[in-house]
Amino acid sequence: MKLGTLLLVIALSASTFGGQQPAKTPADQLPPLSYVCPMAGDEDVIEDKPGVCRKCGMELKPARLDSVWTCATRPLLVVESKPGKCPVDGTPLVQVTAAVSWTCTDQPSIEKLEPGLCPNGAPMVKRYAARAHGNHNPQHGGQFFMAPDNWHHIEGAYLSTGVFRLYLYDDFTKPLPLDQVRAVTARLVTKQTFDTATKTTKELAAAPLVRNGRFLEARIGKLALPAQMTAKISFKKGGPEHVFDFAFEGFSKEPPPGTRLTAAPGMPASPPAPAPTTAVEGGTIEIAPAMENALIPVPIPETVPEIMAQLRTRTDQIRTFIDRGSFASIYVPAFQAKDLALALDARKDTIPADKRKIAQPAIGQLVRSAYLLDAFGDLGNKQQIVDAFSIFAAAVKDIQASFPER
Ligand SMILES: [Zn+2]
Ligand SMILES: [Zn+2]
Repeated sequence: MKLGTLLLVIALSASTFGGQQPAKTPADQLPPLSYVCPMAGDEDVIEDKPGVCRKCGMELKPARLDSVWTCATRPLLVVESKPGKCPVDGTPLVQVTAAVSWTCTDQPSIEKLEPGLCPNGAPMVKRYAARAHGNHNPQHGGQFFMAPDNWHHIEGAYLSTGVFRLYLYDDFTKPLPLDQVRAVTARLVTKQTFDTATKTTKELAAAPLVRNGRFLEARIGKLALPAQMTAKISFKKGGPEHVFDFAFEGFSKEPPPGTRLTAAPGMPASPPAPAPTTAVEGGTIEIAPAMENALIPVPIPETVPEIMAQLRTRTDQIRTFIDRGSFASIYVPAFQAKDLALALDARKDTIPADKRKIAQPAIGQLVRSAYLLDAFGDLGNKQQIVDAFSIFAAAVKDIQASFPER
């Protein structure tokens, strides 16, 4: 067995690999040790201590998770530590979560969480493995969401020809097998009204999404931009219907098909490029600007008025993302707001007791609704997001009434 089906990325330089000097990575440069649940569907359980899964009770397993930059449509074919261009198709690299381990080229069943030496004396090589839910990036230049079943993922692309195309993926963002695509029923609603009193939706214009090969599509013509539309999808006959709200500021552009990668020594050969499904128009995938600083925690300012000002900014950002339909970006300001609220919690002794009585439950409410905004933002159901944001905004209001703003 050579590399087998595992994706190996040789992270050592050729001279090191030649066996002159075993590469020593200082322990503090390794991605931190996390404890994850081995159960499929519990990929969001990531703890910093050993223990049992809060969702299913299984024993957590140690792993090193790293956020790396790679090609959107060829995850982990190349792995970079910073943004750049995909060498295959020239599109901007995207961030994915991968599990990092060390193995031996001649014995890929060896898997260690630290670098070291192989039985044959050669230094171990770094291996990146895709993780379920590790890639939430659009593959066709559209908008990408995760389904509430925590397994399916979908992407909607609105083409300049007036066609809406729905792509379906599994938990690893691989295209759904054809038999499963056949079981999907879906329609696209382009006009609907929502009665806030009765919480019911009335569809005024809808088109069935019809299967065309591996994807579904509907010809809806050219709507004025930004165009809002809602896909209602059942993944199985008789299964629950999930709602995904799209807002397209422009038409979606398929990333270019890419030239053949000349495989570098030790690199796996390029997998066959997926057959282009449409006339390629050139252009690039846009990375949501928020994604680039998603991993940078917000520095907490010194004074309460400065924290309050930051909290106001994050609240405005969330509102803007909701208005623009950039639901997948909401978690960034939501989590930053959560951190700011926790910083206020640590300073609650500086305010009078009567104000504290208002502030304390409001902070709890803000933290809970920030998690809801994160979860619902991934799912792309606007009504759920708006409901969570109204809880969030009410909490911010109470906090503003309790802490001095200057
Ligand atoms: Zn679990
Ligand atoms: Zn996911």
